[in-house]
Amino acid sequence: MHRLLIDGKLVDGARTMEVVNPATGKAFASCARADAQQLDDAVAAAKAAFPAWAARPFAERRQLLESYADAIDARKDEFARLLTREQGKPLPQAAYEMEGAIALLRTFAAMELGLEEIRDDGATRLIRQWSPLGVVAAITPWNFPMLLLMMKLAPALSAGNTMVAKPAPTTPLTTLLLGEVAATILPPGVLNIIVDDNDLGGQLTTHPDVAKVSFTGSTATGKKVMHSVADTLKRLTLELGGNDAAIVLDDADVDVVAPAIFQAATLNAGQICLAAKRVYAPASLYDALCDALAKLAADAVVDDGDKQGTQIGPIQNRAQFEKLKGFLDDAHSSGSVIAGGAPLDRDGYFIAPTIVKDIGDDARLVRDEQFGPILPILAYDTIEDAIARANDSEYGLGGTIWTSNPERAIAVALQIDSGTVWINKHLDLPFDVPFGGAKQSGFGAELGREGLEEFTQSKIVNVAL
Ligand code: NAD
Repeated sequence: MHRLLIDGKLVDGARTMEVVNPATGKAFASCARADAQQLDDAVAAAKAAFPAWAARPFAERRQLLESYADAIDARKDEFARLLTREQGKPLPQAAYEMEGAIALLRTFAAMELGLEEIRDDGATRLIRQWSPLGVVAAITPWNFPMLLLMMKLAPALSAGNTMVAKPAPTTPLTTLLLGEVAATILPPGVLNIIVDDNDLGGQLTTHPDVAKVSFTGSTATGKKVMHSVADTLKRLTLELGGNDAAIVLDDADVDVVAPAIFQAATLNAGQICLAAKRVYAPASLYDALCDALAKLAADAVVDDGDKQGTQIGPIQNRAQFEKLKGFLDDAHSSGSVIAGGAPLDRDGYFIAPTIVKDIGDDARLVRDEQFGPILPILAYDTIEDAIARANDSEYGLGGTIWTSNPERAIAVALQIDSGTVWINKHLDLPFDVPFGGAKQSGFGAELGREGLEEFTQSKIVNVAL
């Protein structure tokens, strides 16, 4: 039984919850589920732990967080196996996610926001201080449970905040294991982990003793979170949904770019905020690109993430699986399905990678975030037309451009309304570079120095000399 972490102790939940392996559709473990009182206890523990944690010299916090990274590292194979079972992703990708999470923790453990001398001109001395905020609530989704939590946990704790973390109800186990490891290393109350069944998020984000909410999830839930923090004016970071366009320029080599675009659309079974979710190809390359993507889809190995050689695992949960069946219906009625097009005839939540051509800009599959391995391909006549259509979205998270001429692509990238644009690559997120969304994909930054500053209050000390 996986237990909650409250005030340094591993505790049973007021209730229990079953966790399903999406590759079988059957429960394989159970875990503790918190009630409202346990959530209050977790926030109270984080509040009580805050002054001493914030007052510790940075070097001590750093050492504790590095010990925490070492202890996670020592159990990383166990973490990866558990991640595959609860999330569905192929084991090598789960191992990669763990490596990333551990590296993130080490990076932020070593990043200090010291006092900054802004000016000293003989008449005035200006100093800037970055102080921790207090209790941070970290709320995460089910697609990258470890990496996305660590983008919050590592900078927040390094800067001197304490935390209450809440994973998505369908992927609680790896987060609870992080709690089990933390219990042996971090001072009580610095990190608390509670699990809900989608019923405690509002209580956490409205809690008067929470100073900041760092939320990653859908735009619809992000809007609720934003409403809920208004009364107490909490600090807020929102990393939300996306509908990223992949634009292929007319000089691209189809044989080179098709596998990269297929990967960008189907990694993690397409369940990535930054996945390529619609492709714009020039009329001259349209049929060749569609054929190449259809072949890649037909050849992809879709299976249990535990099986060696699996490229694409199951959809993470039943609700998302059912949602994707609706997108498949839309694909059949508003476009031409040239690969896949149906769930696999087996247990578990598997969808055949699906390529859809001859589909209109207003189709649901093009306008909405599908969050699954179903990719629409659209033709364009001029690059101006492609840019306008790529930008015609309420989302603005990422995007990619595929070309034989990167210089030309930079001119296009500068016209895309999003937080990140990759050219001839995808998902490269260096830890020292901020990442965040435009428009309804959210606001605020994660990663980089900006990602650390988000967990602090800036103060200016202005001295007459
Ligand atoms: P979701 O919004 O349904 O859930 C996210 C988290 O919010 C879960 O922990 C859930 O329990 C919690 N929650 C639910 N109701 C809440 C409420 N009223 N108040 C507070 N918390 C509440 O999202 P999901 O379906 O788990 O994840 C998929 C979505 O996340 C996609 O839209 C994807 O694009 C997005 N995402 C964004 C990023 C990014 O960095 N921008 C990264 C990964 C995923």
